[in-house]
Amino acid sequence: MNILTNHLPTAELQRIDAAHHMHPFTGGAELAAKGTRVITRADGVMLTDSDGHEILDMMAGLWCVNIGYGRDELADAASRQMRELPYYNTFFQTSHVPVIALSQKLAELAPEPFNNTFFAASGSEANDTNIRLVRQYWAALGKPSKKVIISRTNAYHGSSMGSGSLGGMAHMHAQGGLPIENIVHIDQPHWWAEGAEMSPEEFGLLRARQLEQEIDALGEENVAAFIAEPIQGAGGVIIPPETYWPEIQRICDAREILLIADEVILGFGRTGKWFGSEYYGIRPDIMTIAKGLSSGYAPIGGSLVSDHVAEVIGRSDFNHGYTYSGHPVSCAVALENLRIIEEENLLGHVNDHAAPALAKAIESFADHPLIGEARSLGMLGALQFTPDKSRRVPFKAPKGTIGQIAREACFRNNIVMRHVGDRMIVSPPLILTEEHCEIFKERAGKALGETYATAKAEGLL
Ligand code: PMP
Repeated sequence: MNILTNHLPTAELQRIDAAHHMHPFTGGAELAAKGTRVITRADGVMLTDSDGHEILDMMAGLWCVNIGYGRDELADAASRQMRELPYYNTFFQTSHVPVIALSQKLAELAPEPFNNTFFAASGSEANDTNIRLVRQYWAALGKPSKKVIISRTNAYHGSSMGSGSLGGMAHMHAQGGLPIENIVHIDQPHWWAEGAEMSPEEFGLLRARQLEQEIDALGEENVAAFIAEPIQGAGGVIIPPETYWPEIQRICDAREILLIADEVILGFGRTGKWFGSEYYGIRPDIMTIAKGLSSGYAPIGGSLVSDHVAEVIGRSDFNHGYTYSGHPVSCAVALENLRIIEEENLLGHVNDHAAPALAKAIESFADHPLIGEARSLGMLGALQFTPDKSRRVPFKAPKGTIGQIAREACFRNNIVMRHVGDRMIVSPPLILTEEHCEIFKERAGKALGETYATAKAEGLL
C-alpha cells in the first residue's frame, strides 16, 4: 500500500507516526498521547491538515518559506534538474552548472566583499563549517592559538555538536555533552527581560562591551571570532537596542577577531534588506545562510565568505565538505527562488506593504491585559506575556506555562505562532498581505482571549 497516495484517516497516520517517527525537540510519549497534526498541503500562507483545516502559517514553516507555499516554478526547476543531473559532487576538481550559477548569484546579491560561498545542506552544517573556517584562517596566518569562538546565551545556531555548542540554549547544552571546547558565551542584549532599570540604549552598550571584556579575559591571541544573529530568532525574536550593533562593530574593528553574522533567518529579505547585516550596517567576515535561500523548498545552506578570508583559506587544502555541499537540485531550486524574490520585488513588498501591515497587527495587541511588549521589525514579530504590564515582570508559574497555553490556543484557532518561554513569536512568509493580517488579528485575538481565560481560571495571574 502506498501511504502517500492512499489518504489514510488522521488517526491512522498519527498512530504510525507515533510508532515510528522520532520528532525533533519533542518528547515522544507526550506527543503520542496528544497526536500530531498532519499537514498535507499548503498554498501561499495557508496550510491544510489531514482533517481539512485551513491554518494560517505565521511562522513560514520554520522561518524559511519566504516566497510562500505552492510555487510551481520551484517544482519545475527541481524536476528539470533531477532529470538532467540529479546529483554530482563538488570535490576532486569537479563542479556543475547549478552550483556555479548560484555562487555567482550570491556574490552579486551579497554586499562587498562577499564573493565566495562554501555550501552545506543546512544552517547547522554551515555553522560547523564556520568553526573550522575561522580556526583554519588563523592557523594559516601563523596564529594557531586563536581558537576560541565567543557566542551569546540564548543564541541559536543549529543542533549539531558544533553549532549546538555555538548556540547558547541551556536545555540543549544539558544533553549530550555540549558545549564542545573553546566556545564561550557572553550575555544576550535582551532588554525586556534583563535590562532592569537601565534604558535600552545603556543596556545595549553594556551587553556589547561584554565582548571586549571577554576578549581581554581570554587574551586576544586566543580568540578567533564572535558569532551572533543580528536579531535572535529562536531565542524569542529579540530585537537588540540600537546601541548594540554599532558598539559590537567598533569592538570587532579594534580587535583582531572575525565576525560571523548568522543570517539563517534574516537572510533573503526578512528585514526588508537582502541581509540583516545590511539592515544594521555591520560588516561581518562570514555570513551563515540557509532557510530563505531556497524558501525551504530544498535543503541548502552555506557560508558566505569575504574575500580576505577566502584568500587565506584558499592558500592550502581546506579539509572539509559534505556529500550535499552544492547539491545540484537544491542549487537549481535556490536560483529559482532568488529569481522570484528579485523579479517580484518581494523586498519592496516587505518594505512598503507587508512589514507595515504586520507591525500594525502586532501593535494592535499592545493593550491586551497579558501583553507587556508587542514589537516587530520587518517580517519578525513578538508578543511578550507578563502578569504586570507596568513592570516587565515574569509570571510566578514556571517559565513557558502561559506560552504553552497560548500555543495550544493558537493550534485550536488554526493559526501557527510559536512560543519561546512566555513570548509568542511570528515570522510569516514575505508575501503576507493586509488580508492575511486581518485573519491573523482575528485568530490570534481569539487565541489570546482563551489564553487569558485559562490563565485566570488556573490562578496564574
Ligand atoms: N542559525 C539560525 C539563526 C537558525 O535560526 C537556525 C535554525 N532555526 C540554524 C542556524 C540552524 O539551521 P538548520 O536547522 O537548517 O540546521
